[in-house]
Amino acid sequence: MDVDTRLAEAWVRAIAAAVEQEHERLTELDSAIGDGDHGSNLRRGFAAVLTALDGPDGPDAPAPAGPGTVLTKTGSTLISKVGGASGPLYGKAFRAIGAALPQPGQPPADAAGFGEALAAGLRAVRDLGKAEPGDKTIVDAWTPALDAYREAVAGGAGLPAAAEAAAAGAERGARDTVPLQARKGRASYLGPRSIGHQDPGATSTALLFRALAEAAAG
Ligand code: ADP
Ligand code: MG
Ligand code: MG
Repeated sequence: MDVDTRLAEAWVRAIAAAVEQEHERLTELDSAIGDGDHGSNLRRGFAAVLTALDGPDGPDAPAPAGPGTVLTKTGSTLISKVGGASGPLYGKAFRAIGAALPQPGQPPADAAGFGEALAAGLRAVRDLGKAEPGDKTIVDAWTPALDAYREAVAGGAGLPAAAEAAAAGAERGARDTVPLQARKGRASYLGPRSIGHQDPGATSTALLFRALAEAAAG
């Protein structure tokens, strides 16, 4: 399976649907160790992403964009619409994923190429947020997701199976944030009191990879 515009749009729409369904849980998690806005931040952001994707139609509608453009636009919209830490972090990540994909006219990315794009997304999160694995952040779900994705591709998996492995890796990574003490973001202000709670951002990263698996399967 190649990474085409349909897959990129299906992924973003699946994330928006998951956020719509799970925003209360994300906000509850953020109420325990943050300021209780992670669900509403992402909900506002992905609602704006859908509006941007659907764009103006009619005779002046732009030509269908490539998958890189879809994801770059998603990132720019998150940056402009989400004020919290997660907006710039996910925004930069999606922009990096979009920029790492082949430009229109070039052959589309295969499963391995898309893994490189996901790696660029993680690098963007780490460059901006300076979090290390174990700091109880988005990085703790994205890292095992990427590892599992790459391992699956190395073993011969195509994109649907690799995305499924990534989703399972991200979900495990999110659960594994429970015993960690936060060292970045608002939760770090709590010191040891951040222990015993699942990180909201790692949890939304798990939603993001589960949405990728759904989009790639469908
Ligand atoms: P805010 O903390 O500004 O209210 P959100 O509630 O939307 O923003 O997002 C909080 C999540 O952002 C945290 O649960 C954490 O996973 C993630 N996060 C915060 N700081 C960083 C960072 N420096 N690097 C990676 N992820 C981070
Ligand atoms: Mg918050
Ligand atoms: Mg906030």
